[in-house]
Amino acid sequence: MISFGPVPSRRLGKSLGINNIIRPKVCSYSCIYCQVGQTMNPSLTRQLFFTPEQIFIEVDNHLAKLAAEDRPDYMTFVSNGEPTLDMNLGKSIEMLKGLGIPIAVITNSSMLPDPHVRSELMQADWVSVKVDAADADTWQKVNRPAEGLKFENLIDGLKIFAGEYGGELRTETLLCKGINDSQANLKGVAGIISTLAPGRAYISIPIRPPAEKSVMPPGVETVNLAWQIFREAGIETELLTGFEGVDTGFTGNIYEDILNITAVHPLREDALMELLAKNGANFSIVESLLSQRLIRRSLYQGKKFYLRDFQTK
Ligand code: SF4
Repeated sequence: MISFGPVPSRRLGKSLGINNIIRPKVCSYSCIYCQVGQTMNPSLTRQLFFTPEQIFIEVDNHLAKLAAEDRPDYMTFVSNGEPTLDMNLGKSIEMLKGLGIPIAVITNSSMLPDPHVRSELMQADWVSVKVDAADADTWQKVNRPAEGLKFENLIDGLKIFAGEYGGELRTETLLCKGINDSQANLKGVAGIISTLAPGRAYISIPIRPPAEKSVMPPGVETVNLAWQIFREAGIETELLTGFEGVDTGFTGNIYEDILNITAVHPLREDALMELLAKNGANFSIVESLLSQRLIRRSLYQGKKFYLRDFQTK
């Protein structure tokens, strides 16, 4: 199956998934947290999978079967591996653009040193690049790249692409406990991301069974710290911790509003008090959410913040 969905995505609205990689998984990384399992032979060699015509026909047929209200906001290359390893990615994007729906690509960034890959991605309307590590050692531990790629070249490729790309650029950083969640790595990653100037950076955690069973999500305190470090670096940041919070969160129901907002970013206590006052609610609702372990309190520089408690899902 080449296309699937559309699935609801906080980042992309209704997203029709496109898997342009034929099974089994083909990837240039073997991330310890990968939900598709281990990569047998991580490789940087681009290959032929489906033809652009095959992808176009399947997607076109799929769209024809959808009800008008299910028409996707984006068609997203989110593959069984790394979508840029497909030699036909550029041609497929070109053909699919004729369908009049914006195209998104979620890439691990490893192929960005290649100018052909960069020029193919230029045609996409929205691209998310992976930035998990700020140094070669951490990168090796978390992403386990194919032989032949150097960390410096990866960072150069990211910077060149970010400088050239005119669409919606996003970054995604997935944090694993004890691997890439140190303050030094968080600060280094924030430094790299701030030079890329994405419209938004996402911080995520492993929420599905990872390739390596020992991989654990970091605690709420660390996720709060990561968000604060990114924000202090001037980066518009959101959390992706498995809750479909909405950007504004304002539903008119204070209970849901607090859950929605804290799913996306830590809520400082003074802002929370303001929200309660506006809704004529009192702090007992927060205490109730805390006691149900739906949210958690976390201190940062002497201030109290509230986050969705993803540890008790
Ligand atoms: S880049 Fe994506 S598909 Fe490849 S190993 Fe990492 S998580 Fe899995």
